[in-house]
Amino acid sequence: MSMNQSVLICDQVNPILNEILKKNGLQITYEPEITPEQIAEKIEDFEVVIVRSRTKLTKELIHKADKCKIIARVGVGLDNIDQTTAKEKNIRVINAVEGAMNAVAELVIGLMLSLAREIPRADREVRNGNWIKKELMGSELRGKYLGIVGMGNIGKRLGRLAKALNMNIIGYDVLPIDEGFAKEVGLMKADLGTLLASADYVSLHVPLLDSTKHMINAEKISTMKNTARIINTSRGGVIDEDALYNALKDGVLGGAALDVFEVEPATSNKLKELPNFISTPHMGAQTKEAQSLAANVIAEKIIQIIRGVI
Ligand code: NAD
Repeated sequence: MSMNQSVLICDQVNPILNEILKKNGLQITYEPEITPEQIAEKIEDFEVVIVRSRTKLTKELIHKADKCKIIARVGVGLDNIDQTTAKEKNIRVINAVEGAMNAVAELVIGLMLSLAREIPRADREVRNGNWIKKELMGSELRGKYLGIVGMGNIGKRLGRLAKALNMNIIGYDVLPIDEGFAKEVGLMKADLGTLLASADYVSLHVPLLDSTKHMINAEKISTMKNTARIINTSRGGVIDEDALYNALKDGVLGGAALDVFEVEPATSNKLKELPNFISTPHMGAQTKEAQSLAANVIAEKIIQIIRGVI
């Protein structure tokens, strides 16, 4: 491929991405607010299409992308891209797993501390003029068992951070977990059943697949400690939200923190009514550092693919 390819950027991305691609001779059309209808009209003109999470590259849209050679997601999960259709059309789909690793892992630590010390509630009450110190008897993370489901990039980074907080780490993955890493953090490898039954905190870091859809359901929740807390920063569909709602309401589960939901934006989700529930608006990778790293990684990958290096 020659370097004067035309690139359509469909979502808001770190400006560094445009800069690097432009410097390398690519022609950029930057349309961060573009609608699906507008994409349908013009996608056939572009060799490279770049998205974050707002834009969904559906089967219908990719079918029209006759010139397209690369679809790039400036992020990790590829569930907003119809990969089957991309494959049929011989389009390379790339992402930037490196960007979000630390940002998401740090958010999990923040959410665990928020649950353990009720920081969101404490802040709300102080703002409302209520000094509720006596009601806020928290617990510490030190010495607690953290079960990490999915020991990939983010799961591993979380393991390292949690070790620094003196948590005991239990890990489960469908693939073998790296021995060196397990030694480094003193990881106890377990099957999902053992992990769920033993953990004080369970954090989910699997992709959304048919095999992981509702992997945490009513039956699985019933095997967890009733003081346990669950954190999901992976994808909404991994937890059955109705089952989670019932468990939190009935005291079968201690608490939950979700960054991701089955339907987003989740502004009218009923989980919000519950006192032992906290949420963030899918902001796991929303740090300056993560966005800039992801933009650099994607720019580099696109250039290397066009040059035929990778
Ligand atoms: P990764 O591919 O590095 O790791 C995923 C791990 O899950 C792999 O080790 C894989 O073997 C394992 N896995 C797959 N199916 C499994 C199963 N059924 N049971 C147990 N393990 C299974 O991915 P990652 O970069 O660590 O990302 C993890 C998740 O975080 C993804 O869902 C991604 O979309 C999500 N994510 C969310 C945000 C956010 O803003 N909240 C940002 C980035 C990534």
